[in-house]
Amino acid sequence: MEMYETLGKVGEGSYGTVMKCKHKNTGQIVAIKIFYEKPEKSVNKIALREIKFLKQFRHENLVNLIEVFRQKKKIHLVFEFIDHTVLDELQHYCHGLESRRLRKYLFQILRAVDYLHSNNIIHRDIKPENILVSQSGITKLCDFGFARTLAAPGDVYTDYVATRWYRAPELVLKDTSYGKPVDIWALGCMIIEMATGNPFLPSSSDLDLLHKIVSKVGNLTPHLQNIFSKNPIFTGVVLPQVQHTRNARKKYPKLNGLLADIVHACLQIDPAERMSSPELLHHEYFTRDGFIEKFIPELRAKLLQEARVNSFIRPKTYCKENEFKDDERKIVYNNTLLSSSFWGKEMEKEKKPKEIKVRVIKVKGGKGDISELKKTEYEVEHCRQDGMEDAHAVSEDTRPASSEPASPVNSSTDSSGMKEDAQSGGYMTMPPINPACGNLMTANLNSNLSHPNPRIQEMHRLKGRGTCQM
Ligand code: ADP
Repeated sequence: MEMYETLGKVGEGSYGTVMKCKHKNTGQIVAIKIFYEKPEKSVNKIALREIKFLKQFRHENLVNLIEVFRQKKKIHLVFEFIDHTVLDELQHYCHGLESRRLRKYLFQILRAVDYLHSNNIIHRDIKPENILVSQSGITKLCDFGFARTLAAPGDVYTDYVATRWYRAPELVLKDTSYGKPVDIWALGCMIIEMATGNPFLPSSSDLDLLHKIVSKVGNLTPHLQNIFSKNPIFTGVVLPQVQHTRNARKKYPKLNGLLADIVHACLQIDPAERMSSPELLHHEYFTRDGFIEKFIPELRAKLLQEARVNSFIRPKTYCKENEFKDDERKIVYNNTLLSSSFWGKEMEKEKKPKEIKVRVIKVKGGKGDISELKKTEYEVEHCRQDGMEDAHAVSEDTRPASSEPASPVNSSTDSSGMKEDAQSGGYMTMPPINPACGNLMTANLNSNLSHPNPRIQEMHRLKGRGTCQM
């Protein structure tokens, strides 16, 4: 951390604190997620899971991991800094986001989900605070602590702690055969919240959530009802049987017609009936008025602009054999704007990007100013292109960027393969997001306790942001 100046605290999660920091040599602004040093193994497990996913999966609408190190036994993940989250915007626009902005955000969020799903990854914690938004309006899904590969048939998912309000009925009931549709459910809940400013299913217990699901969405399927009846926790509890209209627009009268349709397609009690991400991307909500044709070039321009800005501020890089070398990452770039099946082109898998080798210097602890410096730019619909918030390092060279070699002293590698280094710290290689990874680019190129939002109040009440052990 001594290579970084701490500018403030931007987030506090169940597993760590996220600090806004500035690289002392390059001026690059980053977000450093410092995992708590907890005795429970779960923190390490979650950190390592997040690292694993972020190293492997890169996409313009996923947050970009720059480097990883461990200091004083705490795992540190260094990310590009992204200006704010969708939750921040909802705190500002408490009646929800303006419809044009909403559609642009949802399109990008769905691209990220579609990218993950096409690689058989489920995120499992989609919610407004995990959607980062850059100053120019690019959204990036973050927090991969719960992401995992789809289980093989018969496999059981374990150790899963998720945010309750966005949990699909099959998750609440601990059906062990859930899959991608859990992300689609969470998306449905989040769309309502983004459109109205209010969480759709705020709940203080699993039973409370189930009650709300049944009253606001639909009755349990026979399969889920069966699981419910057999669960000793719910012994003696009878859920109401509610008559629901099949008409999406009557069911969600606060949403405009097509948005109600898309929400209805996401919020089906039976996971098999929920729309898939490619279907959602083709939904009329996105295709009408030539939205996609107009938005793609706009998004492309923003991404190029950000890549250009970031190429000037990329960190000084160091070339050295590194601890993650044996990791043999296969960066998966398919399903980006340029190459996805969605756009009718062949999937572009495992395209090897140019690598940037980064050395991380071992640091002594140091207290920075942790005053809240979070800056938000809500009033700008898009395009403050001079922003520096998005600081991933994009290499335009054909060879790996390199400079001084690292000089590890007293280094050791722990069982996780992460360098724990008394003097020099661990170092690793992170490939940049390849600006040519998709058609898009190659084509040319904190909450207030007193907040009126019950969601925020609930987050404080639950301390763990509405999380619950499954
Ligand atoms: P946790 O897994 O502990 O919940 P998250 O990854 O969800 O941590 O991050 C917690 C919060 O930190 C986010 O909601 C967001 O406010 C902030 N944050 C996370 N990553 C970044 C980033 N790259 N840039 C700016 N803020 C971030």
